[in-house]
Amino acid sequence: RTIGATLAATAAKYPESDALIDAAVDRTWTWSQFRRDVLALAAGLLRHGVQPGDRVALWSPNRFEWVLTQFAAAEIGAILVVINPSYRRHELAYALTQSGTSLVLSAERFRDSAYAEMLDDVRDQVPDLREVVLFESEVFAAMLTEPTADEVATIAEIAAGLNAADPINIQYTSGTTGSPKGVTLTHLNIGNNGYLVGALLEYTEADRICLPVPFYHCFGMVMGNLAAIAFGCAMVIPGPAFEPKATLGAVEKYRCTSLYGVPTMFIAELAVLDAAGGADGDGESFDLSSLRTGIMAGSPCPEQVMRRVIDEMNMSQVSICYGMTETSPVSTQTRMDDALDLRVGTVGRVGPHLEIKIADPLTGETLPRGETGEFRTRGYSVMQGYWNDPEKTAEAIDADGWMRTGDLGVMGEDGYARITGRIKDMVIRGGENIYPREIEEFLYTHPDIVDAQVIGVPDEKYGEELMAWVRVREGAPEITADTIREFATGHISRHKIPKYVRVVDEFPMTVTGKVRKVEMRDKSIEFLG
Ligand code: ATP
Ligand code: MG
Repeated sequence: RTIGATLAATAAKYPESDALIDAAVDRTWTWSQFRRDVLALAAGLLRHGVQPGDRVALWSPNRFEWVLTQFAAAEIGAILVVINPSYRRHELAYALTQSGTSLVLSAERFRDSAYAEMLDDVRDQVPDLREVVLFESEVFAAMLTEPTADEVATIAEIAAGLNAADPINIQYTSGTTGSPKGVTLTHLNIGNNGYLVGALLEYTEADRICLPVPFYHCFGMVMGNLAAIAFGCAMVIPGPAFEPKATLGAVEKYRCTSLYGVPTMFIAELAVLDAAGGADGDGESFDLSSLRTGIMAGSPCPEQVMRRVIDEMNMSQVSICYGMTETSPVSTQTRMDDALDLRVGTVGRVGPHLEIKIADPLTGETLPRGETGEFRTRGYSVMQGYWNDPEKTAEAIDADGWMRTGDLGVMGEDGYARITGRIKDMVIRGGENIYPREIEEFLYTHPDIVDAQVIGVPDEKYGEELMAWVRVREGAPEITADTIREFATGHISRHKIPKYVRVVDEFPMTVTGKVRKVEMRDKSIEFLG
């Protein structure tokens, strides 16, 4: 089914249930109101010359207009180019040009992001760009007015001609390992993925999903919005950008049943809850009794954090998902009835209708269960390709349709997968392969460490040495390389104990909440002189 067909079915089935809530403006749409506005905007796009297959870019933080645009573009078969709100001129011009975008929808500005101004600055560099429409403008308001009967008929005609195998979306990857690539995805790719993720969380129209994760990324737009339209759940936008208090506040106010986040978001929310329970009593407390489930994903999910989310945030049915933009994104997921140890310690089992193999990264040969190798995925979720880049596409997807993930992991005898890290992050110290993930997990067990990231830095003797960056609990005693050595000795092998330890306030992050280890490495080299 196309995304438009799914929306039509859901709006018909649950017309009066909540579809969308935007906390910033305190507005709620039911599914019938939501579909009405989506169709109005679809007609607006047609009036502005958008044809099926045209690229329409969307550049804005999370707000209700974002979601309306997502579904309006789908309705008329436009290919939505979703652009990272933290991009600046150079990256913006690249994405718009590379995708051949003709129309951009954007916000005037958000905090220090002057979107309108930056769009003005790059306009001349983007050959196909015809028009920029700002959400705050009268032009946009006019695009939301009631469509004529003719326009409604045209939309229906276009919708009938769309094919679920058509591309609907270009998503640039997070750029954690290099420059972002334009992943091209179809209705079938992401519609199915959203549906299956939601099915495993047992979503119904009674669920309300709190979405502090950015919409421009598949975590928000697929695992959130497309799961919601498949089951009639409400999409709750706690604010334009992640803030732990606003997120917890939205959960309480709108009685959310599900909460999404990358690990760092949950860590920040737990810190807010800690402060509320603290001795000085100046923290705010939140009623999280409506929560039951949610998703932690996007980067390694520390076991300690998972356990705390289950115990302290009332999310007994929280799930871990693993995947990548190129696979729509989810490939493995923990199930709600999995035993606790598996639910907090693995990334779950392979998703329905998908295949995973663990391959030797060099030869591609399938490895036996229990051995560490590269994850490869095959099935409905594998992207159509990188936009306009057959070469990179051929490097990523092999002749038999297997997507190379670049992630290392192990598939257990029981079918539960564990991710040990990225091929690019693996540290080789004195010929020994070290997976930073394992050491990070160990550092989390230190009572004063709230977050830890481990990288390799160049070393004359061993080729590479380990360096840990840690964030510590407020008021904790000083942490040094010596403290860590003492703490680790006898618990992990000597060669896995970080030689360097640096206490920091924050890590360099992508806007999707992933740690930019490439940048950490550069800064560490500078730091070590
Ligand atoms: P780029 O490809 O541009 O470097 P990226 O790979 O970070 O960026 P995404 O597609 O957003 O861009 O992220 C996918 C990656 O995130 C996966 O390949 C994997 O390394 C990591 N990841 C996602 N979920 C998990 C998880 N549950 N546990 C560990 N790693 C995860
Ligand atoms: Mg990637």
